[in-house]
Amino acid sequence: MDKKVLIVDDSKFWRMVLQSILEKLGVNQIIVAEDGTKGIEIALKELPDVIITDYNMPGISGLQMCLYLRSIPAFKNAGIAVLTGSDDVINEFWAEHSGANKFISKLLSKDVLEKELERFLSGDYASSKSKEMFYVTSIYDVLEQKMRTEILNREILSLIQFARDELYVIQQLKNFLEFFSRFTGLAFLLLSPVEGRIYNFGLPLSKMISKEKLLGSFERPLEPSNWSYFGNFGSEFKVDGLETVVIKYQESEIGLIAYTNPTDRWSLNKVLNEANESISLLFNTLNIFRELKVASTVDGLTGLFNKKELLRFLEETHNLAKINKTIYYVAMFDIDNFKKVNDTYGHLVGDEVLKGLAAILKEEIAGKGIAGRYGGEEFCLIITKVSNTDEVVDLIEKILARVRNTQFPHGKCTISCGVVSSEGYESPTEVLKAADDLLYISKKTGKDKASYMFLPKNNVLLSQAQHQEQT
Ligand code: GH3
Ligand code: MG
Ligand code: MG
Repeated sequence: MDKKVLIVDDSKFWRMVLQSILEKLGVNQIIVAEDGTKGIEIALKELPDVIITDYNMPGISGLQMCLYLRSIPAFKNAGIAVLTGSDDVINEFWAEHSGANKFISKLLSKDVLEKELERFLSGDYASSKSKEMFYVTSIYDVLEQKMRTEILNREILSLIQFARDELYVIQQLKNFLEFFSRFTGLAFLLLSPVEGRIYNFGLPLSKMISKEKLLGSFERPLEPSNWSYFGNFGSEFKVDGLETVVIKYQESEIGLIAYTNPTDRWSLNKVLNEANESISLLFNTLNIFRELKVASTVDGLTGLFNKKELLRFLEETHNLAKINKTIYYVAMFDIDNFKKVNDTYGHLVGDEVLKGLAAILKEEIAGKGIAGRYGGEEFCLIITKVSNTDEVVDLIEKILARVRNTQFPHGKCTISCGVVSSEGYESPTEVLKAADDLLYISKKTGKDKASYMFLPKNNVLLSQAQHQEQT
């Protein structure tokens, strides 16, 4: 028999018994080890095809040895039989999870034991002798590897407690990776059905291009309706040497880590490999928290902030403006004759108009404030980042014009608007009410227009911008 067989047993008597049985069965390559530690070391050096090990040994048990060896690719197809003595209680769970091919009782008569071993040895077992698969040289490497993996995973899993604060977690993950390698650019993408998020640390790409490039690494990318971007983005269209690692959770692609020019690719790959499972779990948890947050702050139909979030942001903005003695602006919008759209074309078409309008608002307000859906067909902008009222008027007039000129599913559509600046108002509710009053004026005086009030309420000056009729 040309199989190489390793016997591991702490009892000299049993080593001799087993050796004589194997010789009788015609095995001519027999190696012997007297405990689990030696067993593993010899196995790693000699690469036996079959290992017959005692279960109960001082130090590393037969079961532990079996687990270690099975985790090494070279022993994937080796045969491992574990011999159990009278005192050994083999828990079924551990037996099943140890990776042993067979459990044989030492209480069998010598004849029966011989037959059992003969049958086992005739099995199709072989260790792989190929060197490149074989990266572990000693039991200490195996132990070290296990410990490293455990420490890495524990470190990453500890971030799960902060999953509510995604930005913080991502920053910690960045710090963690930078223990192992430096990068010229590093980015993280998290992907869930409702929202994709990109965190960029140093890639010179623009938002659109980084989204395109990173999504390009997925096999079947989800297409979320919302995208958020964090960090600084550049204006480049391409970047050299971009490498990506896709993070999967139960077969779905849920995220990605991208980097350029790692100073230590080997360490980085090793860490990403060893910590893969916990990164996947972490990303999945971040996605779950993000979905919950989105569901509670974002309007499902339009993807704009919902009324609750809008009012929360308004309150915050108002308080900040008071402290910093700055001004913000509120614009209320209402679709003109919208009931007729619904009545004529149905609610689904009406919904498409709402979505289309929301997309315009979102695009135009980007970088200047936020857009929300205040109610059914009423929308609101809170404008915080403009330097003067001209900019506000330009923004609102551009929105009105874009809507006026957009071809919606049913045809054309217009909106009316009321805009106020926050000066002089005590509470955010008053600001909102003032914007609503101005919206009412726009409606009463012909629709498809905006009415503005930019001075303190005690010194009201109304300016209305009239527009050419829809062509
Ligand atoms: P006005 O120019 O004075 O604003 O007239 P209007 O018809 O737009 O105003 P009104 O308030 O009478 O009608 C608003 C309509 O908006 C009634 C309602 O069916 C519709 N609406 C509200 N929410 C939704 C929604 O989520 N989807 C759709 N399709 N329609 C909605
Ligand atoms: Mg209305
Ligand atoms: Mg309306």
